Amino acid sequence: MNSGIAIRRKNKIAVFRQLLSVPETTKPELAASLGLSQPTVGMIIDELMQAGMVRENGMASSIGGRRAVSLQAVRDCRLTLGIDITANHISFAVVNLAGFVVANQRRRAAYASTADYHRLLEQYLDEFLAEKGIPEEKLMAAGVSVPGIIGPDRRTLIRSHILRNPDARPLPDEFRGKPIRFFNDAESACMAECYSDESPDSFVFLMLSNSVGGATVINQKILNGLHNRNGEFGHICIVPGGRRCYCGQQGHYDAYGAAWLLAEKTGGNLAEFFKGLERGDAGLTAVLEEYLDYLSLLIANLILGLDLPVIIGGYVGNYLEPYLPKLRRKVAKQDIFGEQDPDIRTCRAGEEAAAAGCAMYFSEQFIESL
Ligand SMILES: [Zn+2]
Repeated sequence: MNSGIAIRRKNKIAVFRQLLSVPETTKPELAASLGLSQPTVGMIIDELMQAGMVRENGMASSIGGRRAVSLQAVRDCRLTLGIDITANHISFAVVNLAGFVVANQRRRAAYASTADYHRLLEQYLDEFLAEKGIPEEKLMAAGVSVPGIIGPDRRTLIRSHILRNPDARPLPDEFRGKPIRFFNDAESACMAECYSDESPDSFVFLMLSNSVGGATVINQKILNGLHNRNGEFGHICIVPGGRRCYCGQQGHYDAYGAAWLLAEKTGGNLAEFFKGLERGDAGLTAVLEEYLDYLSLLIANLILGLDLPVIIGGYVGNYLEPYLPKLRRKVAKQDIFGEQDPDIRTCRAGEEAAAAGCAMYFSEQFIESL
């Protein structure tokens, strides 16, 4: 590419990203913060306005000198759909270009490799879009998160213990005429985390949902590994000869760390489990204590292997914040370097992180292709 064109594109992307990251700004502010000339910023803003991606929003308040026109990114000018398929639920999320979830919904639906299941998915999607008032034509693409290993073509599901005999191609290549791309569920949830401004550039993501997965992020890039299998932390053996894992082997962390192990103590309701803890229920407190013991063992190993901050997501991650000091102490006890305060955090993205994360991929692609 001609270097002049490349620089113009790079500047355009930088201006739009800056606009997306703040509620409003002005041309002089953009020029100053990005180190660009005002005429360059002016030309880019004209282009973005013509494309319907930026709008004027009255006059900015002045701190002395000339008042400038306030500018805003039209964050909803493009939307992306994310679908998270699990053994018993389908979740939808629609995200805008700033990576914000504008609508989401979770419905119960037992996965089956049948036409009936596909029809149900389509029906739930129609109901979701209608209920939330999302025009389908605004959706650019669909990301699909599944609990399994995804093929390099990003269209095929190579294996999934959880979905049991899934279709190799769970959805058609063009879903309702839109491009589609598959992601591993933990990878998706991790992507949602990556888009949070507060996330470190490199970290280990541990997803504690009804199965345990994870991902490793190095300099804002998720590692794929040789076979797209990076982050299968649920199958690390922590108790040789221990409990049976769903993969068939014994003692894997999943059998000690999956969210349902806590939820089943309170009738399958994880929120109830943590409410019970707040009330000081002795039985549940003992269950959590043991859960944190195993979790600290896994995390201590992850830190030894990778020496990175650990961010805990998934269903359990959403509730663990109050118990982080205790978890850190348990991990610190196992640290051979005497680290007293290991960097362990909980996720920022909420419940529908997997559905949102795989949608954010397309927002990012769109911005990078400006
Ligand atoms: Zn296993």
